[in-house]
Amino acid sequence: MNYRNLGRAGLKLSELSFGSWVTFNKQVDAGLAERMFGTCFDAGINFFDNAEGYERGQSEIVMGKALKALGRPRDAYCVSSKVFFGAHENPMPTQVGLSRKHVTEACHQALERLQVDYLDLYFCHRADPDTPIGETVWAMHNLVTQGKVLYWGTSEWAAEEIAEACDFAAANHLTPPSMEQPQYNLLDRRRFEVEYAPIFEKYGIGTTTWSPLASGALTGKYLDGIPTDSRAALPGYEWLRERMVESERGQERMERVRKLLPIAEELGTSLSKLAIAWCLLNPNVSTVILGASRVEQLEENLAALDLVPQLTEEVQARLRAA
Ligand code: NDP
Repeated sequence: MNYRNLGRAGLKLSELSFGSWVTFNKQVDAGLAERMFGTCFDAGINFFDNAEGYERGQSEIVMGKALKALGRPRDAYCVSSKVFFGAHENPMPTQVGLSRKHVTEACHQALERLQVDYLDLYFCHRADPDTPIGETVWAMHNLVTQGKVLYWGTSEWAAEEIAEACDFAAANHLTPPSMEQPQYNLLDRRRFEVEYAPIFEKYGIGTTTWSPLASGALTGKYLDGIPTDSRAALPGYEWLRERMVESERGQERMERVRKLLPIAEELGTSLSKLAIAWCLLNPNVSTVILGASRVEQLEENLAALDLVPQLTEEVQARLRAA
């Protein structure tokens, strides 16, 4: 495992990390999570991603139990949470968004659910048009000075919003955001590569990128329909099935996946490994957050590390063309 700095920050994260969206509490219980974390630690992973909104806080509870059971030294790994969506089915207005109140409360609740004294990374899960950016920057800065959060950042904010937060922090001598959590994979590249280019250059923002397999689309397993044991078949994720496979855009994306498959075959590897290894080629990626519902998937995805040296300029050009 290689370790990369989180942008210009001193924190070094493993270039592959592990997240819990959809899976924890739905497909993965605390026992399985413990086994998965064991696999992660053995491979050198040191960052585990979570959010208040994942399974309405239950995902953090599962992660907290599993990490506690493993008993690894707290200074050897990092955990995150994210604030914005809330953890309630029918939230009160103070239980969502990025107001000082919710940012603070959500942090306290995440600490309790994850059974940790501090969050290494704490993200604003989306931008909040109803809260002045300065109020959120102050709330995050205060959590940092209280020792409850070490690094704060954004997720899927527009480049201008990230710049506004950085500029406000600099003008007021506050802790700036250190990282952004964007989607980045072979099918979703524009925001990361084009919109964020000036943000990386000017502010040295690090990235913890999500959905390297586009929720599983880049495994190729949806090309001939929807496997019954897959994410797209889960109750409650009909919107994802529609977006990923059934919509016109989904079908168009599947055609691109079909063109990528022979490239993986020629390299003697799986499309999953190829897609994950490709994300690591971009130096603005600090860590690629893997998702998995089974230990075997995690093991396969971790093996993507061995493939990176094989992704020559020629292979990269073919991937771009596809
Ligand atoms: P992926 O795009 O890699 O999708 C992971 C899913 O794909 C797995 O749960 C599994 O689903 C399937 N899969 C994974 N590996 C294999 C394999 N080798 N063979 C076959 N199927 C496989 O990542 P996620 O979408 O899960 O995102 C990763 C993490 O990023 C999340 O856990 C979360 O921490 C973060 N994230 C952040 C977001 C944000 O807004 N900030 C949004 C989304 C994710 P199954 O077996 O059920 O089909």
